[in-house]
Amino acid sequence: MNAIKDFLGSLLLTELFKGMRLTGKYMFARKITVQYPEEKTPMSGRFRGLHALRRYPNGEERCIACKLCEAVCPALAITIESEVRDDGTRRTNRYDIDLTKCIFCGFCEESCPVDSIVETHIHEYHGEKRGDLYFTKEMLLAVGDRYESEIAQRRAQDAKYR
Ligand code: SF4
Ligand code: SF4
Repeated sequence: MNAIKDFLGSLLLTELFKGMRLTGKYMFARKITVQYPEEKTPMSGRFRGLHALRRYPNGEERCIACKLCEAVCPALAITIESEVRDDGTRRTNRYDIDLTKCIFCGFCEESCPVDSIVETHIHEYHGEKRGDLYFTKEMLLAVGDRYESEIAQRRAQDAKYR
C-alpha cells in the first residue's frame, strides 16, 4: 500500500508542491536573517570581548599591580611584572594577556579593585600569524584609550548590579 502511495506521490509531484507552498509562505513574511556585518544583533552591555586596560581621566594608569587578576585567571593567560616607582607607587612594567589561552570568563575584571582590566564589546578582531593575539600592556592600554567612553558608559549602566 505504501509503495502505491509513494508511486502516486512522486507521479503527482506532491513533495515539490509541498516545498513550494512552504517557500511561498515565507516569501512575504518578516525577514529574520541578519545581513552581517552590515547589520548587527543587539549586544548585552555585559558582553565580554577584547580586553583593555583603563586610565584615570588625568592619564594615570589605573592598575596598581596587585596581581589579583593574574591569580584568579583560570587559564593562566595573564602575566604581570611590577616595580615600585620613585614616588613610591607600584605599577606594572609588564602586563600581557595571551588571548589564545583566554576563555573570556570575566574573572579578571571581576577581581580588579580599581576597574583597570575590563573586557570590551569588541569581538571583531583576529590574528594572522602566531603571536598576533598576545596582547602586551601597550596594546591593552591603547584599546582602553580608544574605547574609554564606551567602556565608562557600559560600566555606569551596570553599576547598580555590581
Ligand atoms: S577573561 Fe578569564 S581567562 Fe581571560 S584573562 Fe580574564 S580571567 Fe583569564
Ligand atoms: S588589572 Fe586590576 S587586578 Fe590586575 S593587577 Fe592591575 S589592579 Fe590588580
